[in-house]
Amino acid sequence: MVHPVYAQMPPTIFDEMSGLARQHSAINLGQGFPDAPGPLPILQAAAEALLTGSNQYPPSIGLPALRQAAAAHYRRTQGLDLDWQTQVVVTSGATEAIASALLALVQAGDEVGLIQPLYDAYLPLVRRAGGIARFATLSPPDWRLTGEVLDQLFSRRTKVIVLNNPMNPCARVFDDDELGLLAQYCVRHDVIAICDDVWEAVVPPPQRFKSLMAFPGMAGRTVKIGSAGKMFGLTGWKVGLMMASPDLANAVARAHQFLTFTTPPNLQTAVAYGLNEMRGWFTDMPNQMGRSRDHLAASMTKQGFAVLPSQATYFLNVDLAASGIAMSDRDFCLRCVIDHGVAAIPLSALYEQDPQTSLIRLCFAKPDETLDEGARRLGAARAALA
Ligand code: GLN
Repeated sequence: MVHPVYAQMPPTIFDEMSGLARQHSAINLGQGFPDAPGPLPILQAAAEALLTGSNQYPPSIGLPALRQAAAAHYRRTQGLDLDWQTQVVVTSGATEAIASALLALVQAGDEVGLIQPLYDAYLPLVRRAGGIARFATLSPPDWRLTGEVLDQLFSRRTKVIVLNNPMNPCARVFDDDELGLLAQYCVRHDVIAICDDVWEAVVPPPQRFKSLMAFPGMAGRTVKIGSAGKMFGLTGWKVGLMMASPDLANAVARAHQFLTFTTPPNLQTAVAYGLNEMRGWFTDMPNQMGRSRDHLAASMTKQGFAVLPSQATYFLNVDLAASGIAMSDRDFCLRCVIDHGVAAIPLSALYEQDPQTSLIRLCFAKPDETLDEGARRLGAARAALA
């Protein structure tokens, strides 16, 4: 018998839309990945490690070189004080780190707070771990974490919350007031925060990312998760980083050792190289993302679309109703990919209850010409369907 969590489950919206995009040779502004090949020196470091280094099992918690590089990177960029020997674990992508954290920290019947719209992996993982999800919902266009939202998120039974910051698909970076308030709730309710920080490096100025782990009382109750794939625009690499207090890191490492056990050593070596040697990337890449975001926003506005603010991630959201389109987000996205050669993500797919049904998400990590052609095709869809 198939477990009920998976029994009626469709493929993810990202897989569905990318599949349709391939089938219809569409421009893919759906699933979030850059078109650029990634930084050449890191690719070279990986190739060299593949040919000349070990291809046997690395330690389950990761290569020392990468754990050291990660601790130094987070000290430099976020002021975090992490002991690489006891507080950093390498995983096979951030999703595996999230799964390991939920398996290690959630017991049957524990309440787990999730914030809508929510990344699609969270809820099935919470349920499979035996947790009971409790939802709070942010509202566009500001998507703010207010006291009202946090009152919904926490109850007396809450053991764990999952925070995605910067938040996909909202393209928000939570500010100090919001994170400070959230930290107070976590401390007051004795709750652990699993922080999916995979977009932490994709934050164009003037926004600044700050880890919830750095707020008062949070160092011992945060599991921070990063993604080398997102940092370096190599989304298929699936090299994740997990940082926590020694007790929590040890618990998560025990769950990780029986999920994937370890992560390809050559990719770990290359990511360590990137973190140590490519410091300029962490300024250049977000600057470029900011330019691409502004380019797509201008193109979409020219095509008559109402765009929402975007502070971080690869994503820009468009309000269909405010753009004169009366269709649901999902129907519009299906028509766009099948009839107009451009794929996007309907936000309703990222809700469990009371979805927004009029917002679509576009990935701008593409060359300007691709963004312009994508916007032109979306404009043609708008003209045909509005
Ligand atoms: N994080 C990617 C996005 O939001 C999707 C990753 C995936 O397809 N699993 O587009």
